[in-house]
Amino acid sequence: MTLIIDGNHVAASVREQAKRSAQDYLQQTGKSIGLAVVLVGDDPASAVYVRMKEQDCAEVGIQTFDHRLSEETTQDELNQLIGKLNADESVHGILVQLPLPGHLDEEAAIAQISPEKDVDGFTAENLGRTLRGQNALRACTPLGVMRLLEHYDIDTCGKHAVVVGRSTIVGKPQSLLLLEKNATVTICHSRTADLPAVCRQADILVAAVGVAELLGADCIKPGAVVIDVGINRNKEGKLVGDVDFEAASSLAGAITPVPGGVGPMTRAMLIENTIQSALDA
Ligand code: NAD
Repeated sequence: MTLIIDGNHVAASVREQAKRSAQDYLQQTGKSIGLAVVLVGDDPASAVYVRMKEQDCAEVGIQTFDHRLSEETTQDELNQLIGKLNADESVHGILVQLPLPGHLDEEAAIAQISPEKDVDGFTAENLGRTLRGQNALRACTPLGVMRLLEHYDIDTCGKHAVVVGRSTIVGKPQSLLLLEKNATVTICHSRTADLPAVCRQADILVAAVGVAELLGADCIKPGAVVIDVGINRNKEGKLVGDVDFEAASSLAGAITPVPGGVGPMTRAMLIENTIQSALDA
């Protein structure tokens, strides 16, 4: 029987705990934990993600400060807002929803965020601290994947983990976190020769590519743990991952669905990072 890893369930239990932490914080300090959410432009997918994150915050008792900026916002205006939020004591976390409109420099915007408030874990400081194995606000998606593995008692020690994708926000930090937990890690990317052959060696396969159902049955070792980070629309407009769920689930030992796998965990880790940031302030 293939285990279907239930991200919704694990995320709900993270939010339960977060709610208790936010209540304790309020009792001890008389203040709420605050997250500033910055959304530039009117990308519909980003608007949905922001709404879901704000709903999560409302559920656990984190106050959100909503900053909706027009598509025409300049880099200077965005940087100035981030600077103001860095200095605002009621703001413990700053979330700048990506992608930004094309004329804005994402790297520059991220660099502007104070590392102590970087609850997405994207700044050079937090990624560098993660690399060094130091205390850091860690990137939410890779952190959420590790939490899922932990919740289901999936041991990574000595296992061959193959991460497909080398982005700065998912693939690279994911590889570091698996390495930290003593997995033997291989990173694949768009130039990898014979991707299925490498994937078939994986005891733990993490797909973070952004190509609908790229990884099929020929990529799965029987019994493997398959973690699908991808969120894509297929030709019929249905939400699917980077893994062909039908084909892979007949071989895998455990697998995350899309939706309902990694996505809710990413949001849950944003909540945890925001609480961490308030406690550390
Ligand atoms: P990205 O575009 O920054 O990186 C994609 C990576 O995949 C690149 O490193 C590239 O080398 C690799 N790649 C592309 N085509 C490939 C191919 N044919 N074979 C092998 N490797 C290939 O994307 P990202 O930001 O890392 O996101 C990846 C996917 O995860 C997207 O679908 C995104 O929507 C999704 N995502 C989901 C969550 C979540 O919470 N579930 C969070 C972040 C991203």
